[in-house]
Amino acid sequence: MTTKMFLSEDEIPRQWYNLAADLPSPLLPPLGPDGNPISPDMLAPVFPMNLIEQEMCQDRWVDIPEGILEILYRWRPSPLYRAKALEKALGTPARIYYKNEAVSPAGSHKPNTAVAQAWYNKEFGIKKLTTETGAGQWGSALSFACSIIGLECKVFMVKISFEQKPYRKTMMQVWGGKCIPSPSSETQIGREILAKNPDTPGSLGIAISEAVEQAVSDTTGQTRYSLGSVLNHVMLHQTIIGLEAKKQLEKFGEKKVDVVIGCAGGGSNFAGLSFPFVNDKINGADIEIIPVEPASCPTLTRTPFTYDHGDVAKMTPLLAMHSLGHSFIPEPIHAGGLRYHGMAPLVSQAVVEGLLTPLAIQQLECFEAALTFARTEGIIIAPETSHAVASVIRKAKEAKEEGKEKVIIFNLSGHGLLDLAGYERYMAGALEDHEMPQDDIDKALEQIKNNPKPAINKSGKW
Ligand SMILES: *Cc1c(COP(=O)(O)O)cnc(C)c1O
Repeated sequence: MTTKMFLSEDEIPRQWYNLAADLPSPLLPPLGPDGNPISPDMLAPVFPMNLIEQEMCQDRWVDIPEGILEILYRWRPSPLYRAKALEKALGTPARIYYKNEAVSPAGSHKPNTAVAQAWYNKEFGIKKLTTETGAGQWGSALSFACSIIGLECKVFMVKISFEQKPYRKTMMQVWGGKCIPSPSSETQIGREILAKNPDTPGSLGIAISEAVEQAVSDTTGQTRYSLGSVLNHVMLHQTIIGLEAKKQLEKFGEKKVDVVIGCAGGGSNFAGLSFPFVNDKINGADIEIIPVEPASCPTLTRTPFTYDHGDVAKMTPLLAMHSLGHSFIPEPIHAGGLRYHGMAPLVSQAVVEGLLTPLAIQQLECFEAALTFARTEGIIIAPETSHAVASVIRKAKEAKEEGKEKVIIFNLSGHGLLDLAGYERYMAGALEDHEMPQDDIDKALEQIKNNPKPAINKSGKW
């Protein structure tokens, strides 16, 4: 029985899959400050035009430039594993597969889009990228990509993570990136926030504002901003994961997939694995597709579909998404990559349509699942990834109770070798569950209650 399936380099997918082409109702456009859909020109100070075009693209398939593939070959195609040891420990008749994105240089799926974004910026003549990072995964992925491609990289890192995860900063520095804690005194918005609240742990919403402000205020026009998740072009770049996985499942001899699972922060690793399967579902396949989020930052499971900004200073356009409000600061849980107030519009709209079944899980169950995984499959996964694994374990147990041979696939979005502080606290019994109280959600949503409301289009098929 085969344990892992590789593809050769000449079997790598040569096009990305764009779900925007197949959503039953058209993707809702981002809105500007006047409430009207924005034009590409309005984004030009923030992103290079080639990526803006991709952001708005409606084509089902988008060619992957050869220059990007040449860099992706360093770790792609990534292996698909059969989790035989986990299956055995659970005594489940389910067959569990995982795509291992931890094999990239930065240790997560994030370089898939970091490389693409840095490449398009370089093509457009840009010299420097600014960005934000939560747990440090995105900042290290973009620093890696910029160093390979030859761009400067400046990263605003959420302060609490900057203090909790010093080695992520070191990784960025090894790749020549510059990393500073956010809020910082380098930007107008950072100074304002520090004056009001000097002890703030920071948030992704604040760090995004700082990075955008710094990019647009470079008067030479050679700096742009880069976002590691949420946007359509980021989801697009990540679909290489699911497209590879489909070929690999076929080689494993699987004819049908029953359950697809990924953890969801901004939505990109989940979208990367699942969107090609969402396409199958739109075309009639019976698949359960589950984005898993933390109970302490529940966007898909507990917030309305609304228009909201991606950042605290409202520098980004209004995006149609599930959101806790752009000024929301989540609990400092260890899955830092899942602490974002919003969710990708493409993922959000697929939820509205009923194509996905989102789930929220508390952190103790997730860490328990991570230990089970480490003690069976061997890999120490990122705390973010543990949300996917906790859901996989639930599903595998369900299959056992029902006596069904289900095929479950999940995305192993990253390793946790720089997240050992979280593991340490869990094993010492120092972590607690935290579910966001309804009062707090109501308060958070109060702030965005006057935002424009997107149309809720449902075909009623799912
Ligand atoms: C950033 C990150 C996530 C969450 O981001 P998404 O855009 O939702 O994928 C999940 N897992 C890992 C390992 C990450 O680094």
